[in-house]
Amino acid sequence: MYGLGAAPSVIREIANYGWQRAAEVGAENVYNFSIGDPSVPAPDAVKQAMLKIINEQEPTGYHAYTPGPGAPDTRAAVAENLNKRFGVDFTADDIYMTCGAAASLNITLRALISDPKDEIIVVIPYFPEYKVFIESQGGVPVFVQPDEHMNLDVENLKAAITPNTKAVIINSPNNPAGVIYPEALIEEACKVLEEKGKEYGHPIYVIADEPYRELVFTEEKVSFIPAVYANTVVCYSWSKSLSLPGERIGYIAVPKGFDGYDEFIPAINGAGRALGYVNAPSLMQQVVRDCIDVMPDIKPYAECREALYDSLVNMGYTVAKPSGAFYMYIKSPDGNSEDFAERLKKYDVLVVPGTGFGTPEYVRLAYCCPVERVKKALPAFEKVMAEYK
Ligand code: PLP
Repeated sequence: MYGLGAAPSVIREIANYGWQRAAEVGAENVYNFSIGDPSVPAPDAVKQAMLKIINEQEPTGYHAYTPGPGAPDTRAAVAENLNKRFGVDFTADDIYMTCGAAASLNITLRALISDPKDEIIVVIPYFPEYKVFIESQGGVPVFVQPDEHMNLDVENLKAAITPNTKAVIINSPNNPAGVIYPEALIEEACKVLEEKGKEYGHPIYVIADEPYRELVFTEEKVSFIPAVYANTVVCYSWSKSLSLPGERIGYIAVPKGFDGYDEFIPAINGAGRALGYVNAPSLMQQVVRDCIDVMPDIKPYAECREALYDSLVNMGYTVAKPSGAFYMYIKSPDGNSEDFAERLKKYDVLVVPGTGFGTPEYVRLAYCCPVERVKKALPAFEKVMAEYK
């Protein structure tokens, strides 16, 4: 725990440097693309819902404890919304409200992991906190290389499965690459999990981490994995979709066909209890219930994506196809992301080296920012490319 606290995450470290640097030279002169903090404000519907709840209810109501799994009407609203969108058949019992995706993941991992040898497969590139979460909940992370387009590679996945494999985390749209895994690949991967599960005599679960589900810029479909593979736990949060990262609100959804459902649901409750979450924020549970059909305004992110992608490719950079989330994953011209990030830093352009994401050749640029910042940073990319040439 000391190690985790004493060494901040590489993302936080660069973000902190950016804030410090902004105080020295002015925020307008620092192009801080380090952190995935939504720049689009929460929709007005969120504010209106909060005001209505606060104006019309007693504080003893909206500040109160809720049942551990969440308020029944919120859980029912989530289930109904998923059924409507994805043709599934969740009920309120299958939904457990959480303090955001980080809580959803930790609770799920704690509920699943029962032996120190239990392995959780993580597809590279990955959200660096996965390693922290898996290890903290007593499991062993196993990392799987992607294909050359930063997509899920089913052969590599298959080769990584052992008798100790408990689950695979799938994050699409992906942080850091912005890639959406094609549905055909997801289905192929699920078939492999099914077969390997049979071979080893126990299910291999999918943990679908999907905080970026609604942030999609192309016609590509984001698979809703429980619809094709019942042994899937969905870990969701409104941190990115409704721009509520500080409010800590999300959920876990478990389909009834999940192998061991009757034990797993109490285990989720047990894990939430043991980890001290008690219940997800009460006011926010009501807000997401009332805003369940509200979709984010992704236009500002789309503008940044457009301004960046073609320009970077025209300069000669290799960039993973940024279909969703709000990240651009850019290959260092010489394959050394630490050096590439340092060169950009000289122009006050701050990106995160891919080392912590499992791909030391790439850097992550978080384009959740005003489009002017993106446009003003482009000349630095041009100058840095010239240095390599
Ligand atoms: N999973 C992924 C892929 C993320 O990018 C993040 C946050 O950036 C999280 C989980 C954690 O989200 P939350 O803030 O809802 O805990």
